[in-house]
Amino acid sequence: MKVLTFRKGIHPKEFKELTEHKPIEKLPTPKEVFIPLQQHIGSPAKAVVQKGEEVKAGQIIGESTGFISSYIHASINGKVKTIDTFLHPLGLSTQTVHITSSEEANPLVTDSDTKSWESLSKEDIISIIEKSGIVGLGGATFPTHVKLKPPKDKPIDTFILNGCECEPYLTADHRMMLDFTDKVVQGVLIITRTLGVKKAYIGIENNKPDAIEKMSKATSKIPEIEVVALKTKYPQGAEKMLIKAVLDRTVPAGGLPMDVGVVVNNVGTALAIYEAVVENKPLIERVVTVTGNGIKEPKNLLIPIGTKLKDVIDYCGGLTGDNIKVIMGGPMMGITIGSLEVPVIKGTSGILCLKDGKNFAETVYPCIGCGSCTRVCPMNLLPTKLARLSEKGMWEMANKMGILNCIECGSCAYVCPSHIPLVQHIKVGKFMVNQLKK
Ligand code: SF4
Ligand code: SF4
Repeated sequence: MKVLTFRKGIHPKEFKELTEHKPIEKLPTPKEVFIPLQQHIGSPAKAVVQKGEEVKAGQIIGESTGFISSYIHASINGKVKTIDTFLHPLGLSTQTVHITSSEEANPLVTDSDTKSWESLSKEDIISIIEKSGIVGLGGATFPTHVKLKPPKDKPIDTFILNGCECEPYLTADHRMMLDFTDKVVQGVLIITRTLGVKKAYIGIENNKPDAIEKMSKATSKIPEIEVVALKTKYPQGAEKMLIKAVLDRTVPAGGLPMDVGVVVNNVGTALAIYEAVVENKPLIERVVTVTGNGIKEPKNLLIPIGTKLKDVIDYCGGLTGDNIKVIMGGPMMGITIGSLEVPVIKGTSGILCLKDGKNFAETVYPCIGCGSCTRVCPMNLLPTKLARLSEKGMWEMANKMGILNCIECGSCAYVCPSHIPLVQHIKVGKFMVNQLKK
C-alpha cells in the first residue's frame, strides 16, 4: 500500500506503547457528573431540567439554542442536584448540570432494538445526529449536523474519515478502529450516504498497521470506501494536511474543507453517529486515553460525559507523585488543567499525566534565527515573524502575513531551541486580528 503525506511537519516521540495494546474498558458509573451546557463550538445549550428532577441516562437536559449549537444529555441515571456555574476544563466557569447518581442500573432511555438506517432519509439522519448532540470528537467540537449539510454552493464529492491520531500518547481512535471496527465502518457509510458522495477514504497513519489491516478487511467488499496509509508525521491529522495528503487538494487560506469539496470527520464521531442512528444512543460517553508517566495504570476508557477527572484518575490507580502536570488532550495541542475537579467533556480525547510537571517548553531564550520553526510549519508560515508582530501589536501586518492560516499545531514551538512560546503569541495575534475584522 502506498504511503501518503504532506510537506514539512515534525516527528515527536510517540509514547503510544503505554496504551495502544489495551482494549477499551468501561468506567463504572460515577457517583456524580458535572455536565457543562457549553461543550461545543457555537451558542451554549439551554437547561430544560429543574433542580431536584429525576433524570435518565440519555435524556435531553440542555436544548440547542441556535444554528450552531448542540443538545446536551444526562449521562447517568440520577437526580439534578444543582444547575449552577462550575469549573470548565477550558478554565472558565460555565452553566453546568450537576447530577448525583441513583442506585438504579444505567440503561439508556431508548428502544431496545437497533434499527436499520438504510431506509431513513438524509433529513431524518441529520435530525437524529442533531438531537443526539453529536459534535466533532477529534477535539474541534463543531456540531456534526451542520457539517453534514453544507451550503448549496459548496458541493461535496468526498468524505475522509480521520484515523490519523497524530498527537503523541493518544490511542483512543486507534482502539476504536480495532475494538468497534464494524460500527465505525457503518458510521462511515451513514455519513457518505447522507452527504451523497460516491467516495470515502479512511486515512490511518502507518504506525497503526493492525488498524489499517482490520479496517481494510472490513471494507474490502465496499467499493466506495478506500483505506489509505499515511506517513506517521505530526500534524498529519490536521484536516488541511489530511486533505492534501489523500487528495492533493489545497484548502485555500482562511477556507474550510468544503471549499475543496471535502468533509472530514474523526473516528469517534463516526462511531457516535452509528450509535445514535442505529442504537438510539445519544452522545453521553466517549473513549478517552488516560496515559503518561504520571498515572499508575494507563488505560483507554469509555467515560460518561461529566465525570470528574479525579474519579477517572482514581480508577487508573492514581497519580504517581505530587508534581504531575495534567493535560486534557495530547501534548501538542492539549490544555493544561489546573484542577482535577473539572469534568470530561465531549472534546476530551485524552487525559495526559506527566511527571516532573514539564511540557516541551521550559526556560525561554532569545530567538537565534535558526529557521527551524519555518522549516517545519505545515502551513508555510513564518512563525517567528508572526509571533514577533503579535508581541508588538502589529495586527495588520500579521494579518497580511497570514496569521489566520495558523492551525495552532504547535510544531514550531516544539522544534524551537529557544523554547519561545510561538503558538501562544500567534494565538493572541489571531484573536486580535479576528476582533479587528469584526
Ligand atoms: S505557525 Fe501555526 S501552523 Fe505553523 S507550525 Fe506554528 S502552530 Fe503550526
Ligand atoms: S525556531 Fe525559535 S530560535 Fe529558531 S528561528 Fe524560530 S523562533 Fe527563532
